[in-house]
Amino acid sequence: MQWNKTLEEIKIYEAGKPIELVVREFGINPADVVKLASNENPNGCSIKVTEAIAKNAHKASLYPDDSFYELKDLLAKKWQVNDNNIIIGCGSDQVLEFVSRALLDETSCVLMSKVTFAMYEVYAKQMGTKIIRTPSYQHKADEFIEAYHKHKPKIVYICTPNNPTGDGIKKVDVLKIINAVDKETMVVVDGAYMEYAGAKDEAYKITPNDILDYENVIYLGTFSKAYGLGGMRVGYGIANEQVISQLLKMRPPFNITTLSLISAIEALKDEEFVQNSIFTHFTELKRYEEFADKNGLKYIESYTNFITYLFDKHDSTKINDELFKNGVIVRNLASYEMNAIRITVGTDKQNSRLFEMLERLL
Ligand SMILES: *Cc1c(COP(=O)(O)O)cnc(C)c1O
Repeated sequence: MQWNKTLEEIKIYEAGKPIELVVREFGINPADVVKLASNENPNGCSIKVTEAIAKNAHKASLYPDDSFYELKDLLAKKWQVNDNNIIIGCGSDQVLEFVSRALLDETSCVLMSKVTFAMYEVYAKQMGTKIIRTPSYQHKADEFIEAYHKHKPKIVYICTPNNPTGDGIKKVDVLKIINAVDKETMVVVDGAYMEYAGAKDEAYKITPNDILDYENVIYLGTFSKAYGLGGMRVGYGIANEQVISQLLKMRPPFNITTLSLISAIEALKDEEFVQNSIFTHFTELKRYEEFADKNGLKYIESYTNFITYLFDKHDSTKINDELFKNGVIVRNLASYEMNAIRITVGTDKQNSRLFEMLERLL
């Protein structure tokens, strides 16, 4: 079989390891597994969501309202935009895919930071597009602008706060990059963790409204992180109407499920849940900073719901594997050429268990 040549360049994306795998491999009781690998909300999701899912379970046989009217209406109110500024995706991942398929081909290139969300590369490579990376793992506006002028990329990806490093980019720097590129380049502002950055420091907060007037910028948001709906797969893109009307051509019908749609709607009606989780998150994050200081570990200042520990004396792969054998799942960043692990900040109890295990290994 002659597969598309573009596939030769693509490595299969390795998602955070599931609890089921540890249970199968090491016979650990599922209740004792601590999963801090996929940046999910450790507090789960709003009770309004779980109640609505239970109440509406019988609707599983029905397709959702494909206009996503109510969800778009709530999002439009939340962000003070119109519903024709919004596209809904099966996770914001799917919106990334739409953008990629709508704009890229073998002659184009895309620009991203040295270490960033892996799916930008995968979707670009599927289109046979070349990947350009800035020299630093941090998003440095000057590096982005220099690389932009040199390569004229079709898409520039700004992931703020950045996954898997956890650092944020100031709004002024994001706008500096946006204002430096011309209208032939699409700028994707991936705000998957923006709720955390915005709560930590206003200077890092970007809202869809900040970019709406540009014809070549799209903001991505998701229900998977702060809203605690990773398993429901709902994300969105917000942009100028011209951008959205093109992307809608890429969308298959019913691209989120009936219960996902209900979940996202209910989640938006309970912003208090999100605010409370963010508040407890920052209390727990502090413990991670203190643990690092106490044990002589370096870390990247976090604007997200995870923290990245940097090692010099230890090997991240060894630490990752030892934690894994003991039922603690974190994310090894060796595949990003960093001797580091990314840890999702969990509940009080989960974090204590991680500290206890990690302290033994150090
Ligand atoms: C988690 C994540 C997404 C998207 O997640 P979905 O579950 O597909 O909405 C997008 N970008 C970054 C940087 C992420 O970490």
